[in-house]
Amino acid sequence: MAQAGDQNKTRGKLIIISGPSGVGKSTITRQLVARTAAHLSVSMTTRKPGPGEQDGKDYYFVSREEFLRRVETGAFLEHAEVFGNLYGTPREKIEQALDAGRTVILEIDVQGGKQVKAIYPQAVMVFILPPSEQALRDRIFGRKREGGDVIARRLDGANREIAAARQCYDRMVVNDDLERAIDEIIQIIRDAPAIDRPD
Ligand code: ADP
Ligand code: 5GP
Repeated sequence: MAQAGDQNKTRGKLIIISGPSGVGKSTITRQLVARTAAHLSVSMTTRKPGPGEQDGKDYYFVSREEFLRRVETGAFLEHAEVFGNLYGTPREKIEQALDAGRTVILEIDVQGGKQVKAIYPQAVMVFILPPSEQALRDRIFGRKREGGDVIARRLDGANREIAAARQCYDRMVVNDDLERAIDEIIQIIRDAPAIDRPD
């Protein structure tokens, strides 16, 4: 719910962060939230939690039935199937944060990014690239979250996703040195326009 008085305030900015699995998206977005007043959207997924992942913090982990029920009620700003699991951005908290003038960060895939850009053309789409294919492989293995077959599928998906992103993303940022990449994205956020109020 928008608070009284929010109607006159400039809405927040909406930043979409995408990139291949293992490129460093979670690491970067955590730092962006620590260093700015941005609100990081927590997605809902039918994927099983990985080691150390917490419900309500990393994701809201739900069954496929529960997820599909929420699709029916229009609870998601966007949703997509990625590597056989469903992922979606809960709508309400994002609208509230934007109405309150906060910058909102969405860490979602390219399919989801395109859906959000269609709704909010002022959203800025940022795609994170690995410095090399080998670096990406090393990071996915280093994270130790999934087995070899899942990793192979994710690496295969990475090349297709990078090609798709080159067509439609506003900015490509190479995550070579973490600090440098974070600084570059903070500057992109500073330069981003606010989201328009709906008519
Ligand atoms: P994603 O969210 O994109 O799947 P993560 O944030 O989980 O990726 O990062 C994957 C692994 O890569 C983690 O172990 C993380 O510490 C490491 N990593 C992230 N950024 C860098 C970087 N710039 N240089 C080296 N390793 C990195
Ligand atoms: P992971 O399982 O590695 O956490 O995420 C797999 C992929 O799903 C990543 O590309 C991630 O950005 C994407 N993803 C996470 N949450 C969402 C979401 O809410 N919507 C969409 N479309 N993709 C998401």
